[in-house]
Amino acid sequence: MEDADSKSLQGGPKFDVKVSKAMGRYMVSTKEIAPGEIILSEEPIVVGPCTGCKVQCLGCYRPLESETYFVKCPRCGWPLCSQTCPGLGQRHGHTIEECLILQKSKSSSLLDYSNLESLRLHLQAIVPLRCLILKRTDPSTFNIIWDMESHNDIRRNIPEVWNSNQVNVVNRITKDWGLVEFSEHEVHTVCGILEVNCFEIGQGINIRGLYPTAFLMSHDCVPNTNHTDEETNYKLTVRASTRISQGHPITLSYAYTLQNSLKRREHLLENKFFECHCKRCSDPTELGTYSGALICPKCKTGLVLCDKPLDAESSWSCNNLQGHCPGYSIAARSMKLLLHRISQEVEQIDLNDVEGMETFLKKYRNVLHPTHYLCFGIKVSLSQVYGKINGYLIYELSNELLERKRDLCTEILKVLDIIEPGYTRIRGVTLYEIHAPLMILLTRDMEDQSPAKSELRTRLREVLKYLTEASVILSYEPENSPEGIMGRAAKEALVQMRDWESIVGKL
Ligand SMILES: [Zn+2]
Ligand SMILES: [Zn+2]
Ligand SMILES: [Zn+2]
Ligand SMILES: [Zn+2]
Repeated sequence: MEDADSKSLQGGPKFDVKVSKAMGRYMVSTKEIAPGEIILSEEPIVVGPCTGCKVQCLGCYRPLESETYFVKCPRCGWPLCSQTCPGLGQRHGHTIEECLILQKSKSSSLLDYSNLESLRLHLQAIVPLRCLILKRTDPSTFNIIWDMESHNDIRRNIPEVWNSNQVNVVNRITKDWGLVEFSEHEVHTVCGILEVNCFEIGQGINIRGLYPTAFLMSHDCVPNTNHTDEETNYKLTVRASTRISQGHPITLSYAYTLQNSLKRREHLLENKFFECHCKRCSDPTELGTYSGALICPKCKTGLVLCDKPLDAESSWSCNNLQGHCPGYSIAARSMKLLLHRISQEVEQIDLNDVEGMETFLKKYRNVLHPTHYLCFGIKVSLSQVYGKINGYLIYELSNELLERKRDLCTEILKVLDIIEPGYTRIRGVTLYEIHAPLMILLTRDMEDQSPAKSELRTRLREVLKYLTEASVILSYEPENSPEGIMGRAAKEALVQMRDWESIVGKL
């Protein structure tokens, strides 16, 4: 695998950068790219705490709020996990330059260690400071950052964004710390560049990273790439998830693809400052996934879809135009309220509580489309806990519950094939999840009624197909991540399956 990847990277870059009025700069493929192929792999320019982070170590980003003991950097006085933190003096940790600047500015005299909330807010200025330090220490890298989109003109008109940056970053750096060499405009611009272009990274830690070329990928609500980041050097690797033909944009999603258009577009507008007009967003059915559809309360058979999906204020109405529906319509505001109310209910559900989740699905079966995003999220969780938790361990499941797990996975995969197609993490996980119920149902059938050889072979091949794809997809995940571990389990199961297959072949 590694050889093929490095060889194809040697063949020159797989992407080119184009410019358009509507999209700005964006990445297109220079050749056909196969699923799983690496498009780019690069180390970040800067990393550090996210805007909404909890108090964490400035060197390795370990969360510190729950720790009973953490230390202050002996020089600058900022929080560290220990005097021997592996991130001390490291390029992507607490550098000497940063330490000296923070020390010289007497910034720690403003840190209140008894007030974690205020301490947390101070950390918001760290990543912007790290970018600005590069202006002095590494001007050519700073220019790469400075060239990125900041959307200052849009952000200036969003008070929550602009004022919060003014208080927690701009004033902090230029006034409190007295770093007058940086202008207010520069600090605001760097804040914007970070908000627009950063990747959320870190396994189990809340950090963001700015990368030299990955930011050139444009957004699409059905992206054609997938990315992972490494634990030690924060290296980002972008792979094609589907086949990308030559000249086609290389895309990623800045929104949560499992949410519906209403939620995704709201997130993109508020956090990335643009309105998405992609194919999925333009289609009231969301490409046939019905991620936002309600079941019509009047005719009970029609679906309530958005009348003008690119308009957040649009009404929604029943699509049963054959005359069977007396007509049903709901205003945007009411739709948002309804979703908000049900979302709050979803948030109360413990995602290990099988009964709680099944009860929710039953309760809303006449309200939400079966693959409405609020049901879909619950179904994804259910597909993973059946077989995994106490009382529902895989070998204890009745045939009925095994079939439930299988059917959930099948329904999920149908939707994922549209909105997260190809080699994507969630498809990999679901393909792995479906193999166990299929296999156990098969063995139970063999004991009870020994199915015909041809049926046996067909069913085995099906499991084999799912497991093979799962093991390929999950092999791209970091070794110690839950998905990486699942990938290894898939490989082991495959080996056992091959033995099976040879036995069946001989029957
Ligand atoms: Zn540390
Ligand atoms: Zn320090
Ligand atoms: Zn979109
Ligand atoms: Zn209707």
